[in-house]
Order: sequence, then structure tokens, then C-alpha cells
Amino acid sequence: MDIKLFNTMSKQIEIFKPLKEGEVSIYTCGPTVYHFAHIGNLRTYVSQDIMKRMFLANGYKVKHIMNITDVGHLTSDADTGEDKMEKGSRREGKSVWDIAKYYTDVFMSDIKKLNILPATKYTPATQYIAEQIDLVKKLEDLGYTYIIDGDGVYYDTSKFKDYGKLGGQNLDELKAGARVEFSNGKRNVADFALWKFSPKDAKRQMEWESPWGVGFPGWHIECSAMCLTEIGDSLDIHSGGVDHIKVHHTNEIAQVEPVIKHRWVNYWVHMEFLNDLSGKMSKSNGDFLTLSLLEEKGYPPIVYRYFLLLASYRKQLNFSYDLLDGAKKSYENLLKKISEFICSGEDFNKDIFNSWKANILETLNNDMNTAGVIVLLQDLLKSDVDADTKSALVKLFDDILGLRLVENALALKNTANTISIPEEVKALAEERLVAKANKDFVKADGLRAKILDLGFVVEDTKDGYSLKQK
Ligand SMILES: [Zn+2]
Repeated sequence: MDIKLFNTMSKQIEIFKPLKEGEVSIYTCGPTVYHFAHIGNLRTYVSQDIMKRMFLANGYKVKHIMNITDVGHLTSDADTGEDKMEKGSRREGKSVWDIAKYYTDVFMSDIKKLNILPATKYTPATQYIAEQIDLVKKLEDLGYTYIIDGDGVYYDTSKFKDYGKLGGQNLDELKAGARVEFSNGKRNVADFALWKFSPKDAKRQMEWESPWGVGFPGWHIECSAMCLTEIGDSLDIHSGGVDHIKVHHTNEIAQVEPVIKHRWVNYWVHMEFLNDLSGKMSKSNGDFLTLSLLEEKGYPPIVYRYFLLLASYRKQLNFSYDLLDGAKKSYENLLKKISEFICSGEDFNKDIFNSWKANILETLNNDMNTAGVIVLLQDLLKSDVDADTKSALVKLFDDILGLRLVENALALKNTANTISIPEEVKALAEERLVAKANKDFVKADGLRAKILDLGFVVEDTKDGYSLKQK
């Protein structure tokens, strides 16, 4: 079955054709680990997780690399300002390395809570310094670089004729966008740093020797170098937030294609923002929404995931607690309905299952239409499909949407059972246990019937008995 994806480069929905049959290589730009991720950042990773699950559900083998930016990401995209890592270190009075470790751990815990499948490999930028230097050297040999004294090695964007193609920018737009920042000796407004020199008057915590002087790599070069190292010089999908299109990914293409001399990425897939009432969510004001804050307010992370999947990854989404309340109710409703029939699903009807599966995949494969898949889930719950087939299909929905439906519905079912068993029924079950121990089976059977009359089923287990509603 065809998979359709919106490619930012062609600006249209395309039928996905892999480089290698049955396999897909994905590089996603990961977090800068200087602070907590806000829930808008996390939306991108959830959307990318759906993309990955879509390929898995279609039988693909997925290779997924995600970087961890632990050096070189400056507070301004124009290569001015401070390294975000050093800023985090000063804010918290810890070393940059401790900051990186701490926020990497928090990030890993966040994505686990959101049921995001782990990447094949996570690549911290500080572990690929030699590869980054090597790529800068190649660009230098090809004549794409120049040095600004006391600042760094820069990329000359006028040398790359396709510069700005991904974001559809022409030179006028680039000039307009960079007007404020264009003052530090760059040859062209869009030029960017490949290697920054350490300041002469202060020692940085993270710095390395290079052919051009002690310093640290630019943010853009890290992703290009790690992607080339881990995946090779062609890849199927490169993905990130929409804010990466015009600078970060545009620069990545400019760094790689002159070196490899052919098209690098077949599909550029970008995920839209989450807005709060004031507009695009950002960390700059210091007060931002995190997953832990949602948890404190009584919203499980999986409910936040469900909330995200109700919208297309290509549409901006507004966040409010009212909307999240609505999603929570809707998710709990799904669990309640599922808990009423969920079973092992081993004896399912293959024909019915396959016809639903084809429908689900066709919906999903249409540029990751998660909202459409959720509508199908609701249709299934309303349908008269038998419990086994329904259960098997809910497992399939879980594989695709990652909403822990089976696990949470089973937990709900068990809680419902323990809470609602009356004392009278428990006493009868205890009495029956004694009767059985005394081999008084007539009495035991009588008690079983009594329990049944009260609406409960008693079953013998290894350690005694279990009770559940009829
Ligand atoms: Zn990146």
C-alpha cells in the first residue's frame, strides 16, 4: 500500500519511494539539552513517532538517528549570542557536562512517558567533533568557507546556487530576515558559522583544538556530520520542527550537497507548532509548560499524546486546559468502552481483521492522518464486531497510535472489579474456600451458585480464588 507524505522541498504530497526496498532511514533533529523541553517541543517528537510507527505498521525496517545537541547551539540563529549550554550552566551553577547529562535524562524520561519509540541510536554532538571538523575541512578545500578574525570559520552562501531552496527564500527575503544581525563581517547576510573560536579573554567549558584554532562547532554542522556518519550520503527522510526549514535545514543542505555532489535527502518532513494563548510556545520567557507540570495538574502524558493526535501534524494547534480536559474525557471514554470487551483476542476473525486493517492503513498512510484513524477506532467500538476480533484490532490501533489502550483498559477493568465486589460476596467466597478445603463439594457448589445469583463469578486459582463481575 502506498504511503503519502508531504515533502517540504516539493511542497506537495508525494508517494514515498524508499532508497532500499522495505527499509527507511530517518534522521530527526533532537533536543538542545540546556533546559526542560516544553510541550510544544514534545509535539514534534510525538509527530515523528507516528511517522515511524506508520512505516513499522506497513512492514518497513526503520533506521532512526536522533542527535542530542550538547554544544554549539547559540541563543540566536544568526551566530550571535551565547551558547545555550553555557547559559544553562551559569543559570544552574553546574558544569556544562552535568547540565547536558541532566537534561538528556529528563528528555529520555519525557519521551518514554509519551510512549515514543526509542531511536535506533542517539548521537550527542560532542562525540562527533572529529567528523564535524572533517566536514568543515572538505568545505574549505572546495572553497566554500572564509574566516572572520576572532569569530570563526564561516560558510559563504553565495557559493551554493541552490541556497534557500527548501524554504523558498530569495535573496531579498534573506536580506530582510537578517537585517538586524548583519553587522559582524559576514560576506552575505545568510552566511553562518561552521566553527566558532573560543573567546580570547574567557575559557569555555567545552572547546576543542581544530586546524583553525581552539573553539567549538556550529549547530548546523553537527547534524550534517552525524547524519553522514551514521546513515551515509543519501537518506530517505530528514525531519524536524517547521522552525528548522529556513535556517537550520537550509544550512544543512548547503553544507552537505557540495561535498557529496548529489541530492542528499529525498523527503523533508516538518512538524507544526503548538501555540499557547500568547502565540508560539517558547522557552525564552523562562516560564513554560512542561510534561511534569501537566502531570502535576492531573493530566497523564498519554492524554497529552491523545490530544496531539486529534489534529494533523501539519496544522498549528492551540493549547488550552479546556481542550485538554475534552481530550481527557474522550480518552477515558475510549478506555471504558474497551474495558467492557477486551480479551486476549487470540481467536479473531481474520477476514474482518484484514478488512479493518486495510482501512486503517489507508487512512494513516494518507500523510499520517491520525484524526481519521481515531474516528475508525470509535467506529470499531460502536460496531458489532466480536470481542476477540475487536480486541485484536485495538492492539493494532495501539501499535499505530501508541496510546496504551490495551494496557490502560485492562487496568481499568481490574480496578472496576476490585472496587465493586460487595463484602457479602467476598464472605461467601471465603466460606466456599473453607468448604472446598473440607472437601464439602456440595456446599461449595451451592455457594458458587449463590455468588452467581449476586452477579459474580468465582474462579479457582493457584492461591485460592478470584472474583469478577458476571
Ligand atoms: Zn538538526
